[in-house]
Amino acid sequence: MKSDIVVIGSNMIDLITYVDRMPVEGETIEAPEFEMGFGGKGANQAVAASRLGSAVSMISMVGQDAFGQQQLANFKENNIDITGVGVGTKNSGAAPIFVDKSSDNRILIIKGANNELTPAVLDQHLDIIKGAKLIVLQQEIPLETNYHAIDLANEFNIPVLLNPAPANDDLDLDHVTKVDFFTPNETELATLTELPTGNLAEIKIAAKKLVAMGVKNVIVTLGSKGVLWVSDKTDQIIDSIKVKAVDTTGAGDSFIGAFAHFYTDDEDIPTALHNANRYAAITVTKRGTQKSYPTLENFKKEIE
Ligand code: ATP
Repeated sequence: MKSDIVVIGSNMIDLITYVDRMPVEGETIEAPEFEMGFGGKGANQAVAASRLGSAVSMISMVGQDAFGQQQLANFKENNIDITGVGVGTKNSGAAPIFVDKSSDNRILIIKGANNELTPAVLDQHLDIIKGAKLIVLQQEIPLETNYHAIDLANEFNIPVLLNPAPANDDLDLDHVTKVDFFTPNETELATLTELPTGNLAEIKIAAKKLVAMGVKNVIVTLGSKGVLWVSDKTDQIIDSIKVKAVDTTGAGDSFIGAFAHFYTDDEDIPTALHNANRYAAITVTKRGTQKSYPTLENFKKEIE
């Protein structure tokens, strides 16, 4: 099996409870609504790229529970190759999420089987990795697995994208400098560079520092403002489109998945960024994470 995009990353089951108010310590209250959703940054990004029509393989670990089986079924339903998805010894990754009436949320993340995606697992799937046009990484699996993936990508001469979300203080700059695409938001950029990123001028300085250290392209996601793209040849803002935002959950992941799709299509970075902005903007007009990611056909209809 040869896929253009290989996502090495996480999968989680979102367990979303809608509450009228958060319970206080020791209190039991009734919640009006509960919803389950498929999530995890890796899975979200893979689903976005696949819905746009890319051939996508996922290298990931699910748990030994019913959630793991549901996750596998969801990958299949979304046309994602699961040859590289293993079943671990722990429970599946899960995220209990509590959302109150004013949309304030509290989220716990239990990585579970995602922590079993070790460097040794990647070595079992070198054939999948070698066939990629782009390798996509995030930070919900062990850091050493991402470092190994970056080393393999460099060895096989395959472009690699690291989306440093969620932020991790331990991320090692030596490995970041070996990636082709580094895609932080302002907070993640500040965590890594230890520089302020409170305004565009500061964000540019921090991004340029990474380019000077060897990162080929730094793409800073700026919410409704789109992205800042910095390389050794350019620094430019690529605008998003104006939309009425309803739910921005998973917008960052939809952007990465869409960028991976459009970039591997014709390797034109500015066009891929423009299209990924438009794709992510459309997802924020709808509720939910993967639920809000359109297919290529629906994406085209929406932007007409
Ligand atoms: P997360 O989804 O975890 O918050 P993030 O902080 O990286 O990730 P954002 O920068 O908020 O994500 O958004 C990612 C991309 O989604 C933006 O670069 C932009 O393309 C698009 N986007 C997000 N919010 C809006 C919006 N309100 N209007 C238009 N586009 C948006």
